[in-house]
Amino acid sequence: MSSAGDALTEPAPGEPLDRGSLTSAMESANLPTLVVVLHQLTGDPRWLADPYRPTRGRGMDDNDDGGFAEPVRAEIRAAAVDAVLAWSAGRQPAVPAPTGAFLVELMSLAVGEPVPAEYEAMAAEDMGFRTPKPVRAVAPGTGFRVVVIGAGLSGLLAAIRLREAGISCVVLEKNDDVGGTWLENRYPGAGVDTPSHLYSFSFAPKQWTTHFGKRDEVLAYLREVADRYDLRGMIRFGTEAAGAAYDARRQRWTVRTTAGEELEANAVITAVGVLNRPKVPDLPGLGDFRGPIFHSARWPADLDITGKRVAVVGTGASAMQIVPAIAGQAAHVTVFQRSPQWVAPNAVYFEPIPDGVQLLMERVPFYRRWYRTRLAWTMNDKVHPSLQIDPEWQHPERSVNTINDSHRRYFTRYLMTVLDGRDDLVKKALPDYPPFGKRMLLDNGWFAALRRDDVDLLTEAVAAITPTRVRTVDGTEVDADVVVICTGFETYRFLHPLDLRGRDGQSVQEVWGPENADAYLGISVPGFPNLFLIGGPGTVLGHGGSYITIAESEVRYTVEALTGMAERGIGALEVRPEVYADYARRHDEAHARMIWSHPGMGNWYRNRAGRVVSALPWRIVDYWTMTRHVHWDDFTTEPAR
Ligand code: NAP
Repeated sequence: MSSAGDALTEPAPGEPLDRGSLTSAMESANLPTLVVVLHQLTGDPRWLADPYRPTRGRGMDDNDDGGFAEPVRAEIRAAAVDAVLAWSAGRQPAVPAPTGAFLVELMSLAVGEPVPAEYEAMAAEDMGFRTPKPVRAVAPGTGFRVVVIGAGLSGLLAAIRLREAGISCVVLEKNDDVGGTWLENRYPGAGVDTPSHLYSFSFAPKQWTTHFGKRDEVLAYLREVADRYDLRGMIRFGTEAAGAAYDARRQRWTVRTTAGEELEANAVITAVGVLNRPKVPDLPGLGDFRGPIFHSARWPADLDITGKRVAVVGTGASAMQIVPAIAGQAAHVTVFQRSPQWVAPNAVYFEPIPDGVQLLMERVPFYRRWYRTRLAWTMNDKVHPSLQIDPEWQHPERSVNTINDSHRRYFTRYLMTVLDGRDDLVKKALPDYPPFGKRMLLDNGWFAALRRDDVDLLTEAVAAITPTRVRTVDGTEVDADVVVICTGFETYRFLHPLDLRGRDGQSVQEVWGPENADAYLGISVPGFPNLFLIGGPGTVLGHGGSYITIAESEVRYTVEALTGMAERGIGALEVRPEVYADYARRHDEAHARMIWSHPGMGNWYRNRAGRVVSALPWRIVDYWTMTRHVHWDDFTTEPAR
């Protein structure tokens, strides 16, 4: 937990607060959040009991009114105004940093259902109620140096933490700016479908303007972080790493850039992203198309699609954002679907965060932290149990268990409602595989766009591109001025196209095979000492939550390993092959019981042989716990030479 980040944004007493604006802001407060804040500020036990105990939220809903009757809502709001004003005038919070069983009690109160005690440690650190043991700074002058590859969110995070630990580091970034995927993906409609307050570093909260940040705001946030932590001086922009080789004798990595430059380092951290290298199908005629034809992540900066006939290939998360954003501006949009997608409704997807909430986040102590913790509970692990295959389940073709089946009914009802009167579209858009089998998508206007007269949905596979058309396998040809290829990324070719060579000179791709990556905790590979993967195999969140939580765990673990190496005089740290193999076995066993192994659909979590290589099979709290500390017995070490 960085005090620097907190100090900039955490409310501080002493600044005058106006009763009128606070009172009106309370009208848009999330009341379950407010009840806990009230207890922290006042210490009054009555806020922990009925009638002030909120109900449990339904689905992804924020449960803003907490299920309270109106008089109780008014009472909570009025008491909160008094408590916040008293705090602002100098009264200390009665319960400034709850931890242990009491924190779990407060969490259970906030979410309206029992929270298992195992979430305490993760929540206490995320909320800043318990400061983790600081990583010991490496003594200056040791010459210990790390190369980080990539200045997307993981690379920026690594740079922040390495500097805090006193470890010298240089970040290589192929682009001319920070942001990684958020810099590259500038297609119309691009944004996150993780709620903004979760898609933020725990130590660097932001006043998000919308519940689901759009690309420009997310990119601005990452730029802000880079500036606030003064990272740009550590980054070599326009410098692409081509590969790296480990010299076992010297215990050093040599990183090679595409320009032929070589940099030496004790350790290398890859932060290259899973969704970075576009996957473009090898369609006949692709190169002959006369107009603009490009992957969604390569949207031309100067492209104006006004009045153009646009063909969109694919119906994943990218297409689902592009189509509603361009429908109406383009003359016509034709969507080429290979498989339909399950799509969930979300009431606040496009909603701005009201001014009142902004004020509460900014000025009310603990409010933002509890709001985020509630979101984390709703969005992170809650769905994980429902993704386990029930071997006794009677309808394995359509769902994997009773709850998954009820999710299916819920999403189907939603689809039938939004496509009411359009049986033609229902037939094309209703998936036959279990919901969550592919990455779940949020409805950002997708169905409304499909209903438009100027949007067509075709379900025949694309066979070829001609100079002016897209041809499907049944011979249909569709005229197009622009073709957008939304076919995803090289998700199971981890680290591709980096040529990383370990102790024996073998490349990591040779060790894994082309699509079968593995890493202990997603981080370490035997034969590759002092190499740390951020966003490595088996760390993608398929069940919910925010990649940032995973990245923070990975980076914390990596920096603990690096400072430990420096402290203990270790020159080479290498995961034991048996530890790696055992982890891969447990990973595969866990996946065999999970939905992404279901044969009814393809998804980008598993490779063409059917093995899930990208997604994390465990809950976020499990991964957080596994990576909380380095277990030195998992590694072989060599003293530094
Ligand atoms: P994706 O989810 O992998 O979707 C690729 C789409 O292209 C699928 O519909 C796929 O069909 C289709 N496709 C692939 N190869 C094809 C081929 N040869 N012919 C015809 N269709 C083909 O890719 P994406 O939409 O770029 O998204 C990737 C990931 O990026 C997302 O899952 C998400 O994690 C992230 N993302 C997130 C957001 C967001 O937060 N809203 C937005 C964009 C991206 P099949 O389904 O049949 O394979």
